[in-house]
Amino acid sequence: MSENETKESLNFIEQMIEDDLKSGKNSFVQTRFPPEPNGYLHIGHAKSLVLNFGLAEKYNGKCNLRFDDTNPEKESEEYVNAIKEDIKWLGYEWNEEARFTSNYFETLYGYAVKLIKKGKAYVDDQSAEEISAGKTNPTIPGIPSPYRERSIEENLDLFERMKNGEFDEGTSVLRVKIDMDSPNMHMRDPIIYRIKKAHHHNTGDTWSIYPNYDFAHGQSDSIEEVTYSLCTLEFRDHKALYDWFIRELEIFPSEQTEFARLNPSYTLVSKRKLLQLVENNHVTGWDDPRMPTISGYRRRGYTPDSIKNFVHKVGIARRDGITDIALLEYSIREDLNKKANRVFGVQDPLKVVITNWPEGKTEMMQAVNNPGDETAGTREIPLTREIYIEQSDFLENPPSPKKWYRLGPDREVRLKYGYIIKCTGYTKDETGNITELQCEYDPETRSGQDTSGKKVKGTLGWVSAEHAVSAEIRMYDRLFLTENMTAIDDEFTNHLNPGSLTVIPNALLEPSLKSAKPGDQFQFERQGYFIVDKDSTDDHLVFNRTVTLRDNWAKKK
Ligand code: ATP
Ligand code: MG
Repeated sequence: MSENETKESLNFIEQMIEDDLKSGKNSFVQTRFPPEPNGYLHIGHAKSLVLNFGLAEKYNGKCNLRFDDTNPEKESEEYVNAIKEDIKWLGYEWNEEARFTSNYFETLYGYAVKLIKKGKAYVDDQSAEEISAGKTNPTIPGIPSPYRERSIEENLDLFERMKNGEFDEGTSVLRVKIDMDSPNMHMRDPIIYRIKKAHHHNTGDTWSIYPNYDFAHGQSDSIEEVTYSLCTLEFRDHKALYDWFIRELEIFPSEQTEFARLNPSYTLVSKRKLLQLVENNHVTGWDDPRMPTISGYRRRGYTPDSIKNFVHKVGIARRDGITDIALLEYSIREDLNKKANRVFGVQDPLKVVITNWPEGKTEMMQAVNNPGDETAGTREIPLTREIYIEQSDFLENPPSPKKWYRLGPDREVRLKYGYIIKCTGYTKDETGNITELQCEYDPETRSGQDTSGKKVKGTLGWVSAEHAVSAEIRMYDRLFLTENMTAIDDEFTNHLNPGSLTVIPNALLEPSLKSAKPGDQFQFERQGYFIVDKDSTDDHLVFNRTVTLRDNWAKKK
């Protein structure tokens, strides 16, 4: 490998930062994560978090957490707290206290007054429809508002009265005077303040006017001296406006750089639509394990590392695209493969009676907790005369032993960590279902002490009937059936996967799981990774399936 190849390659933002630090354009890295507290964080936000907090960590800088709370009707304290919890869970620490755009309302108001005094802003009494019509479209010049040439004194007076609550909602707005002929529609005298007599989660009833997102966002970055203001591509055309504000207001020159949104396949990343799923009970809440929210993934059993590794694998691009969700599933398998202990669990139990095993005898078998991690140690599991195996591990008329390694009449398999057993008979009920197998074990074949010289290809998981712990298992699958959820044009709920949740009310698990606590994670051998859900009680264990062992969707495509 050449020297260049061994060096970690930089993404375009890191390259820009390194260039700026070298040239002296910037002397420090200050970023921020600016969520609007109108919903829970989703997997798309994880990309922005990893980017903003990651850059601050890498370049010895700081990352602020700023709640962009300019939209009082949709925002709440619940969301503020949930967002903080998710960021901490991912392992990030924001600089000082969390900030709120609403803490800058006074400063922003002052900025607006400054623009009025410079003759660069005016109160417009047109209706929303008239303002919109006046902007026309990018190919023809706009129609200036009849209020555009109001005097500075009149504008100052009207704006103050707007602030004092003297006018009704919708009667007037404050617009900046830029260029009604600009090909960039954001420069055609955008609105920067509206009258809204709404209660705000942070400022209460202090304000009757609220700044628009575009007036608040860039200026808040300046107030916080953010050197790298990173946002998603849809704000590209807003940059000219932010730069205009900075020039006219003569404030700290935060500079915006855009990157591509993360859009995983079979996934929705829009808080507005996720809220609809919650409100219309398509899911049980923001943290339903099927939700693509950070809290949903947490409850589902995804780890912070799996989410961060996923984002790193996706990388930072300048063009939008769809990311294969299988990459996230791969990341959690990779992480849990290292961290999760293996256990036996039977989802669809079939009783097996070992007929030559003495009644009442219990023999303890030694099982390896994690074959990839010696330090994880071993545990003992009881083997008894009656056990359960998976229904799907027995076939009455199996194909040749070369194609079917599991049980069938007269076939032999090894009970993992136990003995080799041979199926000598089976019982059916009147509808033809197999209800019991009779088997014989070979006492010479105890795992680790096998003196028989026998070789069998199949190894089965099992649990002792007498000792098994019963549990509810919630088998989760992808929430949507459509690969590209950004391209649909019908109602998005038409694309929900009706099979996204299957409940197994009575799975049987090995007795070591009796003491499992919410948040504990395991690999059920041959089945997948599972986490104990918070719905568990002392006598009712609930597990969520985090992910299957293999990608079952790969072949469906
Ligand atoms: P949504 O459409 O889900 O409401 P948003 O962009 O309005 O998303 P914000 O709360 O404003 O949500 O987002 C906070 C930060 O996260 C912003 O900087 C935004 O650009 C970024 N972000 C949001 N969604 C994504 C995504 N899918 N990929 C990358 N970054 C995202
Ligand atoms: Mg937003």
